[in-house]
Amino acid sequence: MKELLEKVLDDCRVHIRHGAVATYIPELAKADKNEFGIAVVSSESKLVCAGDFDKGFTMQSIIKSIILLMALIDNGTDPVRDLVGVEATGKPFDAFNYSDQALNCEHINPMINTGAIALCTLIKGRSYREKFERLLDLTRLISGNPDMQVDEQVYMSEKQTGNKNRALAYMLKAYGMISDDVEEVLDCYFRACSVRATTVDLARIAMAFANGGISVVDGKKLFDRNYARYVNAVMMTCGMYDGSGEFALSVGVPAKSGVGGGIMAVVPGRMGIGIYSPALDPKGNSIAGIKALEKLSENLELSIF
Ligand code: GLU
Repeated sequence: MKELLEKVLDDCRVHIRHGAVATYIPELAKADKNEFGIAVVSSESKLVCAGDFDKGFTMQSIIKSIILLMALIDNGTDPVRDLVGVEATGKPFDAFNYSDQALNCEHINPMINTGAIALCTLIKGRSYREKFERLLDLTRLISGNPDMQVDEQVYMSEKQTGNKNRALAYMLKAYGMISDDVEEVLDCYFRACSVRATTVDLARIAMAFANGGISVVDGKKLFDRNYARYVNAVMMTCGMYDGSGEFALSVGVPAKSGVGGGIMAVVPGRMGIGIYSPALDPKGNSIAGIKALEKLSENLELSIF
């Protein structure tokens, strides 16, 4: 397996030059475009890694899968489904152009910014700081890494420059989809996007989703199987931004990417995969990361279809 991962990285490295690191905040623009790493955890809890597998990066949109999971754990499926729909929008993750005049739950899903921001309000906690701490604790629990932390520089950068997210959140408020203080809700969202991870953390989180919420390390139940199904289904249709349909064809497994360059891929019952390569395609997906997943899917017959 290690040789295969190394070969996949070698073969896909050429695509890096066709991508560009995210520049919407200054901190992300500092990423080294040439970093490329992968980690795979199997259902027997075996970990295999290659390249820059231990480099840290911010989870960004990948945390949306855990925000959704936390909202499900805290409320069950109905309140979550009533606030945020599950249909792919076919639009960029931060799009404004909803086709109707009014905004309602059917226009958004948990994998786009509006959906994730709205779901932060469903996380239980006396304050937004406490809601975030519970989200971070859940992330640490599922990854098995108690040291996961917020990257303070990225967080400050997100908060200072996140005016588009501010606008989206005020739109949610204008349409009655959130009632709390917008800045507080956003603070939770910005911190969540700024949680640092490695490919190993992503692979372990993915394996928990692949294994129906049961830890492959010690067999403990981390979360309900139905919630794993919910999150996996939403990742399958909406996890790779407006490239999710193409990804379903070429790779064929639930996955979530983030503009930090990470991709977390869930191969149900078989493995969890974490990839990092910060050069992005125009839709915001890691360009070499997607190619690597295509190669792996082909070699190991990973597609669920
Ligand atoms: N912090 C980013 C934003 O909200 C996350 C975007 C992403 O990874 O898709 O704009």
